[in-house]
Amino acid sequence: MARLIDILFELVSLLVVVRMVFAAFRGLSGSARARFSSAGSSPRPDTEKQTIRGETVRDPVCGMFVSTELSHQLELHGQLLHFCSQECLDQYRKSAAARSA
Ligand SMILES: [Zn+2]
Repeated sequence: MARLIDILFELVSLLVVVRMVFAAFRGLSGSARARFSSAGSSPRPDTEKQTIRGETVRDPVCGMFVSTELSHQLELHGQLLHFCSQECLDQYRKSAAARSA
């Protein structure tokens, strides 16, 4: 019985670690989702009523216009850049690294 509890405990702590890794990863990909995880002033997520607010800026990789509220963000040299997707963000980061190297 004690062994079963041990296994359960290990599973739970593994889950916690996995969740933390995911949370950290999402944190890197921008603040768009952050407001959902922040301790709620609103009891339910208002995804249905979600309107596009904020500014619209151009994704420097693909040229698409994205809302600053929903974009994937990257801070580079004190400048905040907005991307339509994680793919564009990664691509930009790679090319920026290549330029500075
Ligand atoms: Zn893009």
